[in-house]
Amino acid sequence: MTPIARLPGHRFLHSPGPSRVPDEVLHAMSRQPMDLADPRVDRCIAACEVGLKRLLHTEHDVFLYAANGHGAWEAVIANLVQPGTKVLVAGTGHFSASWAEQTTAMGGIVIGTPWIEGLPIAPADIEAALRDDTAHAIAAVFVVHTDTASGITSDLSAIRAAIDRTGHPALFVVDVVASLGAAPFDMTALRANVVLGACQKGLMVPPGLGFVAVDDVAMAVSRKNPAPRFYWDWRLRQSPLSYRKFCGTPPQSLLAGLEAALTLIDREGEAAVLTRHRRLADAVHAAVARWSEAGALGFFGQLPASRSVSVTTITVADGLDPEAMRTVARERFEVAIAGGLGALAGRAFRIGHLGDINAAMVLGCLGGVEAAMTVQGIPFGRGGVECAVENLAAG
Ligand SMILES: *Cc1c(COP(=O)(O)O)cnc(C)c1O
Repeated sequence: MTPIARLPGHRFLHSPGPSRVPDEVLHAMSRQPMDLADPRVDRCIAACEVGLKRLLHTEHDVFLYAANGHGAWEAVIANLVQPGTKVLVAGTGHFSASWAEQTTAMGGIVIGTPWIEGLPIAPADIEAALRDDTAHAIAAVFVVHTDTASGITSDLSAIRAAIDRTGHPALFVVDVVASLGAAPFDMTALRANVVLGACQKGLMVPPGLGFVAVDDVAMAVSRKNPAPRFYWDWRLRQSPLSYRKFCGTPPQSLLAGLEAALTLIDREGEAAVLTRHRRLADAVHAAVARWSEAGALGFFGQLPASRSVSVTTITVADGLDPEAMRTVARERFEVAIAGGLGALAGRAFRIGHLGDINAAMVLGCLGGVEAAMTVQGIPFGRGGVECAVENLAAG
C-alpha cells in the first residue's frame, strides 16, 4: 500500500515514542533562535532543569544533551565505565540488550540477569548476581524501568531493596526514557545514583533531547574515571555558563518545547498526569483482553500489575502479519501504532498510550486498530472498543 499525501482530519499517533506533541509545545518551538548572551536562553535552560528535577524528584544536577536516548546512554557509559569496568545489566528485553551492547562496544564488561519473556525483572536475580560478586567488581547496575519493546514495567523499589540487602556498593542507574511523565518515579526515594531520559516519549517533545540526573556518588566516580571523553563529560557540564553546559550551542527550539511541556505537566499536576495514564492504560487493556478471547492475540506481559501505563505489547499468532495490519491502520485509518522490536519483530504490535492523549483519542486508536484487523482478517474478540468505553465510564 503506497502512502498517499494526506487524509483529512487528525492522524492518531500511538507510537510509544515519538509521541504526539501538544500544540503549546509546537508553538513554543516555532520561534527565531536567540543570541547566546540573551538572558532568555539562560532562563529557558534553568526552567527545563528545574522542571525535570521536580518531575524526577531530585535535587541533584541534571545535564541536558542535544541527543536522543542512545546519547543519554552514551553519557552514562562514558562517565561511569572505563575499559574493563563490570556492569550488571538487568534483562528486560530489547532495550536492556541494546544498552548492554553499547556498554560492551565502549569497553565495559557486561554481566546480565536472565530475561524471561513476558515477565519483569526478578529482583532476586540482581541480588544473586551482586552476592556472587564478592570482590565488588561490579561498578553499576543498569535497569530499564519500562522496556518499551515488551511493554513491561519493573518494580524499582523492589530492585533497590534487593541491592540494599547485598550491601554491594554498585551504583543504581535507571533508564526512565519510556516511563517518566507516565508512571510514578522518585529518584530520591529510590536513592538512584543516576537517572537518564529523553524528551520524545512521556515528555511530549519532538526527538532530540536526552538528559541525565547525577548524584554526588556517581559524580565522584565520573571524576575519577580516566577514560577519554569530552562531549559527554559531566565535569564539563557543571558550569554556570549555559554555553558550557551544552558544550556549545544549546538546542534552543527543543529546550523551548521542553519548557512548555514541563509547564503543561506542572499545570495538570503530576498526580493527575499519572492517574490519567493509569486510566487510559486500563481502558486499552480492557480492549486487548476482549480481543484476546478469539485466541489469535494476547498480552505479551503475563502479569497484569507489570503491564506498562505507557505502551501495550500485543502478540499475534503465527501465520498472521502484524506489519501488514499496521500499514492498513496507518494508511487507511490514520492510526499509527508500533511494531514488535528485537525478538518480537513480526510477532507483535504495540499501542502507545503516553503523553498528550485523552480518552477519546484512545477510543479512536482502538477503533482504527479493530478496523485494520477486520480488513486483514486477523481474528479478534469483537467489542474491544465497547470494553474500553465501559472501563472509562466506570473509572
Ligand atoms: C526509546 C528508548 C530508548 C532509546 O531512545 P532513543 O531516543 O530512541 O535513542 C532507551 N530506553 C528506553 C526505555 C526507550 O524506550
